[in-house]
Amino acid sequence: MDTSDALIAHAHLFTLQGEGVGYVADGAVAVKGSRIAAVGPTAELSARFQAAETMDASGCAVLPGLIDAHIHTPWAVVRGVAQDVTHWMQRALAPYSRHMAPEAALAGTRLNVLEALKAGTTTFGDYTRPVPGWAEVFLQVGVRARLTPTINALPPGGMAGWKVGDLYPFDEATGQAAIDAAVALARDWHGAADGRITVMLGPQAPDMLPRDQLLQVKRIAEREGLMIHMHVAQGDREIDQMLKRYGQRTPAFLDDLGYLDDQLLAVHLTEATDEEATLIAQRGARMALCSGSIGIIDGIVPPAHVFRTAGGLVALGSDQASGNNCNNIFNEMKLTALFNKIKFRDPTVMPAWEVLRMATIEGAQAIGLGDEIGSLEAGKQADLILVDLTALNLSPVLDAPVRNIVPNLVYAASGREVKTVMVAGRVLVRDGQVLTADEAAVRAEAQAQAEAVARRVAADPVHKSMNLLAAMEAGRL
Ligand SMILES: [Zn+2]
Repeated sequence: MDTSDALIAHAHLFTLQGEGVGYVADGAVAVKGSRIAAVGPTAELSARFQAAETMDASGCAVLPGLIDAHIHTPWAVVRGVAQDVTHWMQRALAPYSRHMAPEAALAGTRLNVLEALKAGTTTFGDYTRPVPGWAEVFLQVGVRARLTPTINALPPGGMAGWKVGDLYPFDEATGQAAIDAAVALARDWHGAADGRITVMLGPQAPDMLPRDQLLQVKRIAEREGLMIHMHVAQGDREIDQMLKRYGQRTPAFLDDLGYLDDQLLAVHLTEATDEEATLIAQRGARMALCSGSIGIIDGIVPPAHVFRTAGGLVALGSDQASGNNCNNIFNEMKLTALFNKIKFRDPTVMPAWEVLRMATIEGAQAIGLGDEIGSLEAGKQADLILVDLTALNLSPVLDAPVRNIVPNLVYAASGREVKTVMVAGRVLVRDGQVLTADEAAVRAEAQAQAEAVARRVAADPVHKSMNLLAAMEAGRL
């Protein structure tokens, strides 16, 4: 008999292998070290493995851990301060978030990671300006991370003082310092914790770095074997800047620059036309789709359906809590399915099983980790979640002759039904309780930091022109 560290048994098992969801009735997963030793029927695996711990998953769906390909964890500390406005970035988020001290950013990261982890997210494509201790949060909590330090050449002070429509000035020294910092972070962290922590290069957007520095980032990415994670065609602001500076819209500009290939994770594509989205997909670049965030901050459904139809890979992302306002991939799956059905007035667009694949195996492929995570199969990392199907909102559970589990996971689950979360063979959440962090302390610290940020914002005259204050004074908040 073989040995294993854990045997997760009697599950409604969704392996996500093959072209569908890979359902196994009364299924089991054997875990050895950080990896999956086998998946299959419980009867078969319990005869084959002597497990140190057997987890009874009766009444649970077992799925691959969910992938959040694009998230800005620090902004959890400014949750809910930048929505229902036009020019969201310049008029809402930037004037507010510039008052975030490094310790506030770190408190946001800690809060956001726990929030998402408890809702089944195991991989974080976290995108931010690094503060000391950032990477260590992921290391210590035990989740998987694709850390992306922001690279831009925006003059010190950022966007808060800019007028909408003005061409931004660039500060090349700032850009170079950010590139150097990203390379240093990659040297320290890419492949850390047995490959659980990896790094991507993150030019913030094509309009926020001079052309030469965009090219420099591309050369480094090729030399170091790193992916590029960049906001692309996000908002009319970016397209306007690109037209003013280069006389080209973003997709054509990036194509000329040699950026459109499988090394690129292109985030949002909010302003991309169907033709542009098709071009980007056909070149092999991948897309991160943030349905909740873009719905709230822009009122737009990005062209993910066209992108996938053209053969592109799409991952889901929760983006930012300042205006999403939650970081929960169950929420993103539902919104993605709904928004696209509504956009096309067609209920067959983006069925539940497809968005579940976008949150798991397709997302893993899109972020370049398809060989390691995204499905439950022997040899892959043991990143998985147990979802309690006995929750009232997921009941009744039908298995045969009719099966209703996947549509309910996508359209009825909230994320609170996640009972257990395992990453790289280690249990991080058991019976809804985080084992690797002090949840109450993390929440208290985020609350204190958020209040300190709010006090600094209130003392800043720019606050008077923000919609937030006006809405509050009008009795709307
Ligand atoms: Zn973003």
